[in-house]
This record gives sequence, structure tokens and C-alpha cells, in this order.
Amino acid sequence: MFELQSNRNMIFDNWQSWTSNKNNTLLIAGPCSAESPEQLIQVGTHLNRLGIGVMRAGVWKPRTRPNSFEGKGVEALNWLKELKQQIPIKVATEVASPQHVEAALKYNIDVLWLGARTTVNPFLVQEIANAFQGVDIPVMIKNPINPDLALWQGAIERIYNTGNKKLAAVHRGFSSYQKSKFRNTPSWQIAIELKSNFPTLPLICDPSHIAGNREMILEVSQKALDLGYDGLMIEVHPDPALALSDADQQVSLEGLTKTIDQLRFAKKHSNDALFISQLEQLRENIDQIDQELVEILSLRKQLIEKIGDYKKENNVTVFQLERWNEILSSRTEWGKGKNMNPKFIQEIYKAIHDESIRIQTEIMGQETEKKE
Ligand code: PEP
Ligand code: MN
Repeated sequence: MFELQSNRNMIFDNWQSWTSNKNNTLLIAGPCSAESPEQLIQVGTHLNRLGIGVMRAGVWKPRTRPNSFEGKGVEALNWLKELKQQIPIKVATEVASPQHVEAALKYNIDVLWLGARTTVNPFLVQEIANAFQGVDIPVMIKNPINPDLALWQGAIERIYNTGNKKLAAVHRGFSSYQKSKFRNTPSWQIAIELKSNFPTLPLICDPSHIAGNREMILEVSQKALDLGYDGLMIEVHPDPALALSDADQQVSLEGLTKTIDQLRFAKKHSNDALFISQLEQLRENIDQIDQELVEILSLRKQLIEKIGDYKKENNVTVFQLERWNEILSSRTEWGKGKNMNPKFIQEIYKAIHDESIRIQTEIMGQETEKKE
């Protein structure tokens, strides 16, 4: 199978620290689309009050169908520029072509992002990357619409190769034909794999495009914070029901205040000496138990080998359905008695049983030794 390279020698700039708040979590919020100067001022004033330093607002909107609202374009870039003269806030917008990059830079936009429908296209990403050459502006790269980690990494690498290290990845979930409670399935493990391949790249969650409805924004945001994400980008609108795009998923101004209040922001590390020593003690105990666990598994393996030999001698099949059903149900019951999640016990036993079958099948295939 094709294995993605982990690129640990790529060091990204910690640019988001300029506006970080709440235990170093970068908070970005703003409307899906810039609709009017008044809307931007209303949102900007509210963000300023909440201490959120970066406002998002799309000016060119990638729409699935024609004749939908496609953004206010250059006119809205000018609104954003004027907003910054009234309110101390940084502004971010999506760019989907070299012409967009050029226009956004002309209007002093502070942060740019590549949308999911752009990341998916390496030709376009390269053209945009070329437009960034020599420009040191923070760029956020959203995941592609399809669950393809290599495409996401490739887009990041293309921008990085222009010399711009002020990058961040935005996880906005993945399209799926299947019905799900999410608008875009999160598949958290893909974003986590990206983070482990690029440990110094800030990872931001976009709960709005993952959820697709405002009721789930808190839940998705909390999950991202619990997984150690570096930031959140949340869509907010003064009157969400009247929004020209993504009306269902935008929270109101009060909704945003409430969401931020209800979120648990945990520190990634603590320097508290007592905390560190207690954590170390607990980790030593875990190491000890894990060692015993591996020891026990190896004793179990010896028994499996004996059973394998025995079945072979008697010409009996490796897999015994009744025995397997009995193992699965008794172990699940034992686990329940110890307050363990039955699904977890079953997953573990499936793995143990698979290995047992593998070992026994190997024994069956070996040449029988000549008996004296
Ligand atoms: C957006 O952020 O409004 C947007 C269009 O996002 P995505 O590229 O994630 O669909
Ligand atoms: Mn949107």
C-alpha cells in the first residue's frame, strides 16, 4: 500500500499566536459571506467584544449550483478594508484563483484560505501557489472534499514550497453520498494523521461545514478541542435565517457568545510540578500493566500453538464457530461485570481471535514432522 511520507523536517511558522486567546486556541469567526458593510461591522464589533481577533468572510463563494449567491467580490474586499479602519480586527477570505490572490493582497486582507473545492485540484493549487511566491501572508488550507490525505498534504506542500511557512490546515469534513447526521463527515482520524505527519502545522477545525446545522456546532467544536486542535473557525451571522449562503449552519451573535462560554478549553501541557510527577507515576503504573498484558498474550499464544498442533494431528478445522461465539459472549459478559464497554471487549477479542486463526492456519500448512 502507498504510504504517505511524514514530513517532520517541515517547520511551520507559529503565526496564529498573534491573535491567540483562550489557552492559545486560535478563534476565527465571521459570516459565510460578506453581504453588506453593515453586516460586517455588526459581526466585527461583536467579535471584538468577545476578544476574537480574526474575522472570516467569503467574498467569492464556490456554489454547487448556478444562480446561487456567488459573493460580492471586489466590492466586499473594499468593505473589509474599511472595516479594519474602524475596528481592530484581522480579516480572512477564501481565494480560488491567482486573480483572487492578487485582489485580496491589494485590499490588505490579512489571512487567505483555500477552500475544499480548490485543494482537490493540484493544477489550480499550483497556480495559486505561484501567485503567493514571495508573499508572506498566512494561508489556511482546507481539506479536499474527498477523504484523501495525500491531496491535502500535497496542497500544503505546494504552498510551503513557495517559501511561505505561515500555514495552517483547516478540517471541514468530507463529502459523502451516504446520509449522515453531518453535512460533511468529519473522519477525525484523517486530520489526526495530518497532524502527526506535520506536527508543527496548526490544525484548525471548521465545525460549521462539518455540522451543517447550528445545533451541532458546540458538540463538534468541543470534540476538536478535546483532540488538541489549535483553533476553531465558526460561521456567525447577525440574522442567520436571512443569510445569503449556509443559513442553517451559521450561529447568531448571541449563539456565538454562548458557544464560546460553554466550550471547555484545556491546556495542552501543564508545567505544574505536582501534576507532572503524578502523571509520571500513573504512566509508570500503566507501563507495568502493559508489560504484564503482553506477557499474558504471549502465554496465550503458546496455548494456541498447542491447540493448533492438536487440531492438526486430529485433522480438525482451525475455525470452530461455536467456540468463537462462546468466547465472544463470555468475555463480553466478564467485561460488563468490570464495567467495560462491550464494544471495546469485542474489538479486542476479534483481534485476538484473528491472530489465533492466523497462527493455527500457519501450523496447519507446515510439513508434519516424521514421528519415530
Ligand atoms: C466556506 O468556508 O464558506 C466554504 C465555502 O468552505 P468549504 O471550502 O469548506 O466548503
Ligand atoms: Mn460557508
